[in-house]
Amino acid sequence: MRNGMEELGEITQHLLRFSPDALLVVDGESRIRFANETLTQLFGYAAANLVGQRMDILLPERLRGSHQHHFTHYTLNPLAREMGARISDLFGRRADGSEFPAGIRLAPFRIGSRLFVAAAIRDMTERRRINEALVAAREEADRANRAKSRFLATASHDLRQPLQAIRLLNAAMMKVPRPELRDILQQQAQAIDSMIRLLNSLLDISRLEAGAITPELVPVDLEEILEELRAEFQALAQTRGLDLRILPVKAVLRTDRILFHQLLQNLAGNALKYTDRGHVSINCVLGNDMLTINVDDTGIGIPADKLDRIFDEYYQVDTHGSKRMGVGLGLAIVSEVAQLLKFNVTIAAGQGGGTRATVSIPRQFLTTAMPTLEPTIVAAAPVAEDRPRIVLVEDNDAVRVATELFLKFEGFEVVSAASTEDAERLFASVQPTDVVITDHHLDADNTGLDLIKALRHRQGALIPGIILTGDLPSLLRRSGTALPACRFLPKPVDTQALIHAINDLSSKARDAQTGQAKE
Ligand code: ADP
Repeated sequence: MRNGMEELGEITQHLLRFSPDALLVVDGESRIRFANETLTQLFGYAAANLVGQRMDILLPERLRGSHQHHFTHYTLNPLAREMGARISDLFGRRADGSEFPAGIRLAPFRIGSRLFVAAAIRDMTERRRINEALVAAREEADRANRAKSRFLATASHDLRQPLQAIRLLNAAMMKVPRPELRDILQQQAQAIDSMIRLLNSLLDISRLEAGAITPELVPVDLEEILEELRAEFQALAQTRGLDLRILPVKAVLRTDRILFHQLLQNLAGNALKYTDRGHVSINCVLGNDMLTINVDDTGIGIPADKLDRIFDEYYQVDTHGSKRMGVGLGLAIVSEVAQLLKFNVTIAAGQGGGTRATVSIPRQFLTTAMPTLEPTIVAAAPVAEDRPRIVLVEDNDAVRVATELFLKFEGFEVVSAASTEDAERLFASVQPTDVVITDHHLDADNTGLDLIKALRHRQGALIPGIILTGDLPSLLRRSGTALPACRFLPKPVDTQALIHAINDLSSKARDAQTGQAKE
């Protein structure tokens, strides 16, 4: 009977001959001293034809020179390691001259003072094919994703025009004295609002994903941004019976103002949406190497096992019994924006229930000096006693008709033009107290902004202007907010904001007129 040692010896022999990887041993002079069966099968040689040969025989000719150089270098400091930095660098050459991509691991050993190197060689053809297929699939997925983002951006942008018309018509109908229709129209207004919110989110996420937004870094006063958020959310917090607490610190960041505002707006908006009782607070902590902004709420909270998915697009926690209040894009936008701004955002359970969102801003984005800028917060507009005449320039027929109707129902006198040429005709009779409302994208040669500048130049007066645009962030980036007596409003326009802007500009224009008359 064979003993255990004999059996182990046989196993070792077997393993050496038929190991899963092809095995080869070369000496310090690059001569093959051993080749197992797996290797001879892989390369198509008989072992007897290999032993004693230079190892070069197993390499494509074009690689032999560089290989010899690497081998000499290796023998100076032989270590067990993977050979070649990338798998695409290594190839084996079979007896019939064909090649295959190879993966090779090296293990040096010594017998006495003589160096030997054992190599385990694997045919990587299949692995490489899979790798290439993966890369191709990934590229295809990226291409499809970019195409989807482009489609979404175009579709949501184009859908805003008709929606703009519908919103204005709805506001106009509200003015009709038919009390029995009021509820219906109010419901309709709510539906329109939520559709606009959805379109805005779709447009934002698709633009961010398509890489169409480059952050523009400017000094941003943190207190000012938080004050804007307070102004935006105060009324909503009050109607929901929630306490809105904002604790700013004095800090000036170097970041993109619009994106930073959007990030905090989405977090604060969520905190208010998902909280029925208690408070929402925005707390800032200035540490040594970090500014931290915590948005805390006492709301329904997010189950621990759902936390890792909430930044996914369209993901919403299915909380039994609670109403769905969004479309699941808010946090996906937050995540994209945070990446662009190089901030870190985490969402976790709040300490006393509710949710805590934390924005961590590395010190490198904090600056100390703040240039003095014109205040951007607009005071409440007094209602103009005499309604100004409105000069409307809009090339989309449906939007023009709806805007005209809406403004007429609001009691304004309106004249309108469908093109820049038409507008020229109207502009001859424009008075300094008229308010011009124009679409920004008019035709290939003219923007609304060009039109207002040209009109002012021609009349030699600061004619008040309101520019409506489907892409407010880009317009603000390009033109800044510095044009006097001019307001930029996003499309689809909020009807209240439009009336507010008209009244505000008009009363300032009248004040300026009276001032001039007195002088
Ligand atoms: P949504 O438009 O649904 O609010 P978001 O991407 O902003 O989409 O958020 C994803 C989901 O995460 C939400 O549907 C909600 O279930 C959950 N969530 C986000 N913020 C909060 C919060 N402050 N409290 C509770 N749940 C939240």
